[in-house]
Amino acid sequence: MVETKEKVAEKGSKEQKVEKVDEVEKIESILDLEGVGPVTAGKLTDAGFDSVESLAVAPIREVADKANLESSVALKVIKAARQSMQLDFINAKLLWERRQGLLKLTTGSGNVNKLLGGGVETQAITEFVGEFGSGKSQICMKLSITAQLPNADGGLEGKVLFIDTEGTFAPQRIHQMATSMQLEPEKLLEGIYYSRAYNSDHQILIIDRAFKLCQEENVKLLIVDSVLSHFRSEYIGRESLSERQQKLNAHLHKLTRIAQALNLAVVVTNQVQANPQAFFGDPTRPAGGHIMAHASTHRIMLRKASGGLRAAKVIDSPYLPESETFFHITEKGIEDAQPKARRDD
Ligand code: ADP
Ligand code: MG
Repeated sequence: MVETKEKVAEKGSKEQKVEKVDEVEKIESILDLEGVGPVTAGKLTDAGFDSVESLAVAPIREVADKANLESSVALKVIKAARQSMQLDFINAKLLWERRQGLLKLTTGSGNVNKLLGGGVETQAITEFVGEFGSGKSQICMKLSITAQLPNADGGLEGKVLFIDTEGTFAPQRIHQMATSMQLEPEKLLEGIYYSRAYNSDHQILIIDRAFKLCQEENVKLLIVDSVLSHFRSEYIGRESLSERQQKLNAHLHKLTRIAQALNLAVVVTNQVQANPQAFFGDPTRPAGGHIMAHASTHRIMLRKASGGLRAAKVIDSPYLPESETFFHITEKGIEDAQPKARRDD
């Protein structure tokens, strides 16, 4: 943490006063926030904002709407929460220190780990995009196992929240992977909270409630497989596109906030759609447009290659180079493809 005790700034209103981290008293319960009485606390808790962290990162309008509060009350409460957590301004050194706490989760394939700069990162959203059968769900199930491993084995030493929108999560497949990895399948299945989302509103609701579960149960990996399928099937036609994108945007922002506030890894999968503008190269592109593209920290395109191989390619990332690698889907989950079988064209 920052060492000096001097104040960084002291101008404007009282709320804008910025002090160094160790001068501010950390508030543990929302009831201790200025402006929160038992009634407001009840409303906030019912709306899923039951911790200082969840309030500090929430938009004012959302808190006001969901908890049925006046905007001015929501604003006051959020300001108090942010101040308690020092979220308004932080020193870049603190940002750097926070990054040092970033963990990397093994995929089981050295090739894919290398592609990802060491593994799937915490504090970020990693998106696996690909056609049907390209291996998206297999990767998600594999990560649900590895996330529970010790840090020394490439794990995150935490539990998993698996949100399944397509009904393709297979406990028997987790069992098979765990057994062939010589791990205890039942113990690992116990460490996965599973939630089947039946429509986009349900999916949104689950994520609204996820912060609490993730915080209390030490969830270190949150998966949404797949993030867009409900949105795509429910909002059809141009007239509903902007509403869809608005809802999707809020949903994805919430995932980002959970990832950053709790230092956990968020993995989402996405389908591809035809790209009519592509005369050359790949005739497909990830679904979800700019909103999806901006929300994902790292986008990895998967495809079926010849010889039963799968290819993984970084298509968008702030710091990973655009490279491609190959893997196999096996009993253990996903593994490196044999070097001599690597060529696919
Ligand atoms: P999607 O990208 O649509 O989510 P999946 O991740 O479900 O695709 O991948 C499905 C593919 O995984 C199947 O085509 C199959 O080849 C492969 N697969 C599934 N289970 C196993 C297994 N036990 N051993 C080897 N390959 C498997
Ligand atoms: Mg799938």
